[in-house]
Amino acid sequence: MVPCIKFPLFLQIFSMIITASSAITRRAICVWPGMRQLSLRKHLLYGFMSFFSIPFKTVRGVSRSLGVSHFCSVVNMSSMQVELVPCLRDNYAYLLHDLNTGTVGVVDPSEAVPVIDALSKKNLNLTYILNTHHHYDHTGGNMELKERYGAKVIGSGVDIDRIPGIDIALNDGDSWMFGGHEVLVIGTPGHTRGHISFYFPGFGSVFTGDTLFSLSCGKLFEGTPEQMYASLKRITSLPDETNVYCGHEYTLSNSKFALSIEPGNEMLQSYSSHIAHLCSKGVPTIPTTLKMEKACNPFLRTASTEIRRSLNIPATASDEETLGAIRRAKDDF
Ligand SMILES: [Zn+2]
Repeated sequence: MVPCIKFPLFLQIFSMIITASSAITRRAICVWPGMRQLSLRKHLLYGFMSFFSIPFKTVRGVSRSLGVSHFCSVVNMSSMQVELVPCLRDNYAYLLHDLNTGTVGVVDPSEAVPVIDALSKKNLNLTYILNTHHHYDHTGGNMELKERYGAKVIGSGVDIDRIPGIDIALNDGDSWMFGGHEVLVIGTPGHTRGHISFYFPGFGSVFTGDTLFSLSCGKLFEGTPEQMYASLKRITSLPDETNVYCGHEYTLSNSKFALSIEPGNEMLQSYSSHIAHLCSKGVPTIPTTLKMEKACNPFLRTASTEIRRSLNIPATASDEETLGAIRRAKDDF
């Protein structure tokens, strides 16, 4: 267990003043140091970063499971506001609110009630329901929300028979508009055959459902390691600073597996400490960034000699074969 980082009160107050000034500030200070620069300073750094990030995530209570079910996390980016809505045991739905047009969407509502509560608190209607894939813990709230608000359901054209209430079918390469924001649809099969990710280039965010998690990827229920590798490649081809909003709060347990197969990765050590600290405070670990995931996520690090050595994967194995071996090891972890 990684110990909690204690921090002097004056530094906490200082960080709150800084972060309250602008959402942009958070991005500016969240520049992660190069791996070689990390040593004893890493704990101090992540202590700083933890408290820098906390004011954006207003903790309102205690969690049902991970300590985060009643918090409200809102991040402003241009005219778009994103709010994390914890659902079920460890799912996240995301409320998207375009302040200019009043357009409101929800990504992957596994259940309706927490989403209705979040909408009611802001007196908002719901325009769209966006589903990354058909699994019940991503679509369970579709029909109740659709009936209550008359919202349109958007999902993969591959899964028109499996996504409840689907109105608009989108496929890989499609472009769609959400309240004046362009949304690019990226086909990301592997977890399911119809899985898609929603990329909003205008505010540098991608919603990856159960394809890319922080420090892991989804289980291969309907796809091959080759498909998942290609899907992850598509996502990681986006800019490094892209915010990644995934479907579950799995980061803490993922960090334990990642550390077990790449213990020498100093960036991973530091990120894991940071994650443990956030979780101990009941603060969500999402969003992550592609830059962080490329440095730490074992499924994006199939070339790592340390990972290959840990899992007895020969140097001649392809990246796809290595991803498959990592996935099998994670399934048994
Ligand atoms: Zn799923």
